[in-house]
Amino acid sequence: MEKPLKSIVEIMDPPPYHWVGDGFRVHNFFPSQPQIGLQGMSPFFLMDYGAKWVVPPSDKPRGVGVHPHRGIETVTLAYHGKVAHHDSTGKSGVIGEGDVQWMTAGGAVLHKEYHEKEFSKKGGLFQMVQLWVNLPAKFKMTQAGYQAIENQMMGKYVSDDQKCKADIIAGEYKGIKGPAMTFSPVNLFNIKLASGSATDFSFPESYNSGILLVEGEVMINRSKKISENQFIHFGHSGEEIIAEATKDSILLVMSGEPLNEPIAPYGPFVMNTQDEIKKAYDDYYNGEFGYLED
Ligand code: MN
Repeated sequence: MEKPLKSIVEIMDPPPYHWVGDGFRVHNFFPSQPQIGLQGMSPFFLMDYGAKWVVPPSDKPRGVGVHPHRGIETVTLAYHGKVAHHDSTGKSGVIGEGDVQWMTAGGAVLHKEYHEKEFSKKGGLFQMVQLWVNLPAKFKMTQAGYQAIENQMMGKYVSDDQKCKADIIAGEYKGIKGPAMTFSPVNLFNIKLASGSATDFSFPESYNSGILLVEGEVMINRSKKISENQFIHFGHSGEEIIAEATKDSILLVMSGEPLNEPIAPYGPFVMNTQDEIKKAYDDYYNGEFGYLED
């Protein structure tokens, strides 16, 4: 028997974009939009969506220079174009179409994010997502870390008729697990659905869940149609989600157990109290976040 369908709170259009540095033209679905706010998608704290745009060629790669983070993980997903990353732990990498970079800021990290050099020279179609996953209080000051999750390392699901293909980044879909190590229960995967095909999956009622439609058009739970660049935010009753594609589609599906802890965000830091925010700034200005060349 089918489980009760998950309730739908709202379908959101992308808010007007803003720039992060000079390279990332992003629509912030949360926390800036009051209907989700600081806690409505916990443990996900932030979602910046770089909808498709064509980057003009540039000899100087566009991007965002050295900046700190504490208390979160930043998860960057590339759909079109390439992003290069360097951080103060000495890690660096390039993510291209279908790849993900999962950086644990923990207690202290400095990083910079730019369009990759060759991509930058040629320019072209660019589309990406950056999520900030909040860390539970007991892990906020954990060691910084970096997981380069190339597409081929992801959990792979393919339906018998080949019309549904999923890349599982974290958590589980259809019994297939993703490689990302997380500090609280998180599901994150991309589902590619051919027009006319469908899939279903379920998450616990207590989890916060949503789908960003990266491409296409999908009917959710036989009742609500979502279009490219929209985000559907689910409620806490029911578990089952049914997605039926009316065009070839890519769904970024996210769900996680809420942290249920106080939250004090400021700039690049997400802590539990204002005192911890002040300490983060003190530590940063005292040079305790290490060094990274600009
Ligand atoms: Mn950053």
